[in-house]
Amino acid sequence: MEIIKTIVDFRKVRLSLTEPVGLVPTMGYLHEGHMSLIRQAKMDNSSVVVSIFVNPMQFGADEDLDRYPRNMERDLSQLQKEGVDAVFVPSTAEMYPIHFSSRVEVDNITQRLEGASRPEHFRGVTTVIAKLFNIIQPTRAYFGQKDIQQAIVICKMVADLNMNLIIITLPTVREPDGLALSSRNSYLNRRERKAARVLYQSLMLAKKLWQEGERDAKTLHWEMVRLIRKEPLAAIDYISIADTKTLMEREEVKLPTLVSLAVKIGKTRLIDNVILE
Ligand code: AMP
Repeated sequence: MEIIKTIVDFRKVRLSLTEPVGLVPTMGYLHEGHMSLIRQAKMDNSSVVVSIFVNPMQFGADEDLDRYPRNMERDLSQLQKEGVDAVFVPSTAEMYPIHFSSRVEVDNITQRLEGASRPEHFRGVTTVIAKLFNIIQPTRAYFGQKDIQQAIVICKMVADLNMNLIIITLPTVREPDGLALSSRNSYLNRRERKAARVLYQSLMLAKKLWQEGERDAKTLHWEMVRLIRKEPLAAIDYISIADTKTLMEREEVKLPTLVSLAVKIGKTRLIDNVILE
């Protein structure tokens, strides 16, 4: 497995990778969610590249950039075991040299849900992902449904800017009790970890009510709020019941509908979603 830190070196290694090439972009501290993307990338492609880069541009000033969990040694040994061909691990200076001044920005859908709570977030995501696509030149790139808005925004960027690759979105990998795997779960203490189950429980409640015939989005929303409020460690950032393409809020639940939420458990902000379809 090649471990590459610079763009110049990556371009050299890229010439030796056999086509098609799959890319899995990550911020490291790898878990089974990441591994599911890597395994699918291995099945679909002849070579697999994983990038590990904690992208400062997508963190707000008051967010967790400095304490974001990192464990490069463990990540690299996991990637080696999975049979990944190359790992791209650039420094911040390599990705954003002094006087770096370009941005890639997708309108509209980036203003809602996560974008409403984290105004600069998606501009950082699309800028870094566009750079990674240009450096790595993958045939396919893999993203998780866990960050569904991110996947939708990246698909829009690729379509709008005629980027020549295929985006593949794969299902969320969960703990046995339903909590979506996330590097940020490592912030939770034991009480918070238990409380964090409320995200998935509230999504499952919405799904159940819908299956029983409830079509009023406000009712689903309110029932989710009621359930989450029973958990003293949880504070709702947003709950959204929206169109899966435009991310506009729905009044009536038509298929497919995206139910998504962000909830703070103590100091840790977690997100999750399900698609009713
Ligand atoms: P991150 O390292 O958190 O930026 O995530 C890298 C990629 O892994 C993104 O495409 C995420 O959506 C995806 N991912 C994170 N958690 C999960 C999960 N629990 N299941 C599936 N994919 C995930």
